[in-house]
Amino acid sequence: MKFDNVALLLPDRTVGFGTLETSGSRISKIELATPPSPSPSTSCSRLILPGLVNCHGHTAMTLLRGTGGGLPLQRWLEEAIFPIEARMTPDDIRAGVRWGALEMLAGGTTQVIDMYDFPDAGEAAFESVGLKASVSRVGLSFVPGRLADCIAFTRAHPKAHVCVHSEYLTDEPFCRALADANNRELKRPVHVHVSETEKEHRACLARHGQTPVAYLAATGLFDCGGFAAHGVWCTDDDFRILKEKGVVLVHNPSSNMKLGSGFARIPRALELGVTVALGTDGCASNDNLDLFEEMHLASLIHKGLAKDPTVLSPWDVIEMATFGNRLAVGAAADFCVVDLGRLHLRPALDLPNLVVHSMHASDVVQTVVDGRLLYDHGTFPTVDLEQTREAFDARVRHCHGI
Ligand SMILES: [Zn+2]
Repeated sequence: MKFDNVALLLPDRTVGFGTLETSGSRISKIELATPPSPSPSTSCSRLILPGLVNCHGHTAMTLLRGTGGGLPLQRWLEEAIFPIEARMTPDDIRAGVRWGALEMLAGGTTQVIDMYDFPDAGEAAFESVGLKASVSRVGLSFVPGRLADCIAFTRAHPKAHVCVHSEYLTDEPFCRALADANNRELKRPVHVHVSETEKEHRACLARHGQTPVAYLAATGLFDCGGFAAHGVWCTDDDFRILKEKGVVLVHNPSSNMKLGSGFARIPRALELGVTVALGTDGCASNDNLDLFEEMHLASLIHKGLAKDPTVLSPWDVIEMATFGNRLAVGAAADFCVVDLGRLHLRPALDLPNLVVHSMHASDVVQTVVDGRLLYDHGTFPTVDLEQTREAFDARVRHCHGI
């Protein structure tokens, strides 16, 4: 594929203008106009940015979009979410994941780190759509046989990560045994919810005399790196542990606000050298899978809280959202194309600022994953949208008993 006369967000935090070509699954050529083209507002109608990476998702929760609105986290889980999840089958997961994967592709997301039940069905559904995904068997100590299941699943699925849901749903022997197996044999990143609410953070301190991050680190679960979602109540020492262990802090601003959990101290985490990424969380607590919205919120929240407009530059936020994806020759051809002709995107004079503060997921017109055009101006060339919609609607009726 060849994209002419496009603006490009480059890895050295500059904006280039020129041509990008792909060959197979890789970016094969980037040719920049020299001297640089005039202002993109007059010469460029499209922007290519690296594919967005959703580093904390529960994609099949598209089936539960909007469920339990207005409830705080524990009541939301126990009264609204868990009863429906108890009815779910692999058919539900397949339909919910396919629907969510399409929503993400249409919004420029090319990859997700997912945490949900029936990961076999989930992984197959992601593969059927083409969105890159790492799934996991969720570690929960109250499910009989789950520890052996987690180890066996991870062993059999090379792209899977290891996962414990959280300190509060996974007891210490489980965490230690999974960590031992992982550090000895599997060597995968871990995915876990940490310090999402003040109540959770304090309960862990009362149970273990340690914060969730310190406790999980002590079990060995962070020894192969990973993704710690939320971290709203993390201390400076927690951030130091995450940095030392190479664990990414995943910021989920929409979910944290909708559930009234608070604001993660992202500028402080960055100051202490923690790698920060963005996630949507499940779309029952968001209620969409739009990473442009997460970028916008992350930028505004932390400027407002710090009373300082220099906190979190647009490039800082873009790097959080694109998490390692880059427009460079030889890199995976994972990117999206945005139509700069939209009313709210003119003039396009400062593109990084425009991406973070003006753009919506719906401005994406094409999404490419591993060199395959998976979303193209409202259509999905490799997916039967009508059939996917019918399957999704049927499984929504099943889950909600309607
Ligand atoms: Zn979550």
